[in-house]
Amino acid sequence: MTNIAENLTRVRAEIARLAASAGREDANIRLIAVSKRQPLAAIREAWEAGQRDFGENYAQEGLEKLEAFHPEGIRWHFIGPIQSNKTRQIAAHFDWVHSVDRLKIAERLSAQRPPAMPPLAICLQVNISGEASKSGVAPEALAPLAHAVARLPGLRLRGLMALPAPVTGVEAQRAAFARLRSLLNGLREDGLEMDALSMGTSTDMEAAIMEGATMVRIGTAVFGRRR
Ligand SMILES: *Cc1c(COP(=O)(O)O)cnc(C)c1O
Repeated sequence: MTNIAENLTRVRAEIARLAASAGREDANIRLIAVSKRQPLAAIREAWEAGQRDFGENYAQEGLEKLEAFHPEGIRWHFIGPIQSNKTRQIAAHFDWVHSVDRLKIAERLSAQRPPAMPPLAICLQVNISGEASKSGVAPEALAPLAHAVARLPGLRLRGLMALPAPVTGVEAQRAAFARLRSLLNGLREDGLEMDALSMGTSTDMEAAIMEGATMVRIGTAVFGRRR
């Protein structure tokens, strides 16, 4: 086995173990292999080891990779900051976008989603740690944004995403993820049909799964260090 295949086996086993200890089904936790700044060969290797969901942060880099490698059944997730001039290509090529934090971007993605494709699956990124420099909608502004995005015909609002400020210790990490889960529950009680919590990276996957993550975005633990 190659390194990446071994890493995937280890990460999947870890997801299964954590799911069991949280009393959850590991089938409800989707592993997204974050391939930003990794070569195409690494993505191929992961694909051959059975990985189907891949995450990219940079529009140009992601688009080049998915044009070069698009076997039947692969799913591409856009997880990085979105500039207005990149929405058309993102809408035309990605399956999920996890990083929507403004209505203007959502409206463009909806209008530019090709009608022949299914609606683009969306997570709203929430600035859960209140960091001044971070992307993400402020928790106070989330509900109006969610209701507006839910009405856009080219999109299907699925859930929430967060990348909390790094903190040490599983308990501290869980606090931020618990806030995201409670925001999702609030929107569901408000009548929005949302089921996705995109949270957890290589350094805080345990805390995220304990708090109900349905998608974990794992880069380094799958591919090793980025270039
Ligand atoms: C890079 C990145 C990840 C993956 O981080 P790792 O620590 O390499 O697992 C997950 N989510 C987002 C938004 C990222 O930018």
